[in-house]
Amino acid sequence: MYTSNKEAEKIKKILIINGIIVTSERIFKSDILSENGIITKISPKINRKDIETIIDAKGKYIFPGGIDPHVHMQLPTPAGFSSDNFYTGSKASLFGGTTTILDFVTPNKEQNLVKALSERKKEASNSLTDYSFHVSPIDFHKNIENEISQIIKSGINSFKVYMAYSIGLKYDVLLKIMKIVAKSKGIITVHAELGNEIDKLRNNCAKNGNFSPKYHAISRPNYTESDAVKKIINFSEQTKCTVYIVHVSSKESIEHIKKAQKKGISIFAETCPQYLLLTDDKLFGEFNETSKYVFSPVIRKKEDNFALWKALKAGNIQTVGTDHCPFNLSQKKLGENDFRKIPNGAGGVEHRLSLLYTHGVIENKISLNEFVKLTSTNTAKIFGLYPKKGEIAVGSDADLVIWNSKINEIISSKTHHSNCDLNIYEGTIIKGKPEFVIKAGKVCIKKNEFISSDIKGLFLKRKI
Ligand SMILES: [Zn+2]
Repeated sequence: MYTSNKEAEKIKKILIINGIIVTSERIFKSDILSENGIITKISPKINRKDIETIIDAKGKYIFPGGIDPHVHMQLPTPAGFSSDNFYTGSKASLFGGTTTILDFVTPNKEQNLVKALSERKKEASNSLTDYSFHVSPIDFHKNIENEISQIIKSGINSFKVYMAYSIGLKYDVLLKIMKIVAKSKGIITVHAELGNEIDKLRNNCAKNGNFSPKYHAISRPNYTESDAVKKIINFSEQTKCTVYIVHVSSKESIEHIKKAQKKGISIFAETCPQYLLLTDDKLFGEFNETSKYVFSPVIRKKEDNFALWKALKAGNIQTVGTDHCPFNLSQKKLGENDFRKIPNGAGGVEHRLSLLYTHGVIENKISLNEFVKLTSTNTAKIFGLYPKKGEIAVGSDADLVIWNSKINEIISSKTHHSNCDLNIYEGTIIKGKPEFVIKAGKVCIKKNEFISSDIKGLFLKRKI
């Protein structure tokens, strides 16, 4: 797109005045100046001379741009690609105040991880948010140690392993991979479910003629997650490999995590809004209504929601991601006669901050500082992006969210920005959302409007 020099000048400096800055540690009133995408000054009164873009944030909070540690854009499945590609998904992210996403690299069997990463980078090149990946070793081939060290050199320090699905690792392979990653001071992120046990339970349902979506929940009871969590904690203790458990959903898992952290084992945990807010009754009913809640792990009971909130507050869970992976109803229908064929996944990247603000901050379950930790700072620290991301400080990237806490809105697939005709939060009220979203010192969202100008996401190199 053509930009005149004069316009280019304009976007170089942005001054936000009168806002209430919220970081993971502090809340204070100040002006913020950004120059060429970097925060260069934070002070109560910054000189306004020669600055063409000034935003008055009086009465509004300013948060560091959200970082979603767990999204799947353009994920290939037997039901086709998940319905958001990097462009549409990252656009939805920006509308919700998330300026950085961590997606995944899943190679084909025996494919070189480095090659798989370079292919995934091409797919992500139209992302509007900044991005990085967790890379998945899905088998043990002879060059893998070398590939892992090359991946780390190229700026990725996290490796995602599955204990379920067709790409799940056998335990002996998992241990070998963890030893390699530990040696390189990387981090293992893990989908913890007992894959074999779940397969058995699913096939039992089918044998008895039970094919509706509710059997997705029935075949994934709490212990199928918590026993896997217990196992991976044990492996972490054995290998000294730092482990980050993704999308924790059950109260029993939290008990294992708490105990491990108390013992000093290096365990981090993530949960998602769906596990904090929804319960499994959503899966009991008509296919068109229930199939959108088919994702793994499953949504559980009120007491699980409660335990997760408690763990957020206590710091046992460090991050809230989304596992954003939407499918349209037409794709879900592939499993109309057999729940095992319903593509697993749902969207969420756009409403993560608003849902956590509404149900966490407003309902007094977490403080504003904890909100910032959970949506941004902790992810930046765990995955090597801090203080470039996750912080409002001189020298940090000017990724900023100006938050209007007076907005009331109802979530709907008719108005959301994700490329999907379903939304698992359909009809849910949110209180508070971004009024401005600034990425790398450029305004990209202004009062419900996307300002395209020349927003471009960058691949982020991370540190160990
Ligand atoms: Zn996932």
